[in-house]
Amino acid sequence: MSARALIFAANWKMNHGPGAAREYAQKFLALTAPAVDRSLWFFPPAVSLGALSKSLRTRPDASVGAQNVHWEPKGAFTGEVSIPMVMEVGARLVLVGHSERRQLFGETDEQVVRKTRAAIKAGVTPLVCVGETLTERESGRTEQVVLRQIGAVLQAIDGAAWTKVALAYEPVWAIGTGKNATPDDAAQIHEVIRMELGRKGVSVRVPILYGGSVNQENVGLLLTRPQIDGVLVGGASLDPKGWADLVERGSRAKVRPSGGYDLV
Ligand code: PEP
Repeated sequence: MSARALIFAANWKMNHGPGAAREYAQKFLALTAPAVDRSLWFFPPAVSLGALSKSLRTRPDASVGAQNVHWEPKGAFTGEVSIPMVMEVGARLVLVGHSERRQLFGETDEQVVRKTRAAIKAGVTPLVCVGETLTERESGRTEQVVLRQIGAVLQAIDGAAWTKVALAYEPVWAIGTGKNATPDDAAQIHEVIRMELGRKGVSVRVPILYGGSVNQENVGLLLTRPQIDGVLVGGASLDPKGWADLVERGSRAKVRPSGGYDLV
């Protein structure tokens, strides 16, 4: 992963089996060309990893990752898949601690740490998600919650290993709801996370993505904030044409090294 590349991550959740994944890739590839300054990350369901990674093999800008893994490489864990297994079918990334895993399946900070550690050890990039619920936000605890979630990982992963980690700030109340954090709100929390990483001596190069109801209309504005290194997108990544359009709009909007904004 090039740490400075703008990252567009698509979380398909429980959508697109292997056949649909192949069709998606065919359409998406016809609509986009590789660009050196951006990375396209796809998180399909586990059963579609092999089909998708094969379909995208001609594109050096595209990587595929698992939405969830177990931290053990093998064993008596019915229904789980391990990191070596997803790597065997092409995964180079894993999503860890997505809010749906935390909220719906009871994933704890401790499990997030185990998965993150296992991913780094195996040589896949964990994309670790953090974010507050609506109740936590409304009671003024956003920073406290995000720092607790980040802190658990910071405590367990040493500085050098952070070069292999990516983070996503995803306010839970914004995921799949059509409500997104304003670019300023998101940028402010990204800044808090970045400062916390800095305090612990962690690389400034750790990419921090924003996620939560990002779509073709709002991606441009979000990515004008220099604190936001990319986006993690669920609903708006499910249609190949819409996703290609979102990627192009976001790429055009990112702050250029010259400092100018180029809004869509
Ligand atoms: C997600 O699944 O990580 C997400 C941000 O979903 P959505 O874009 O649909 O809010």
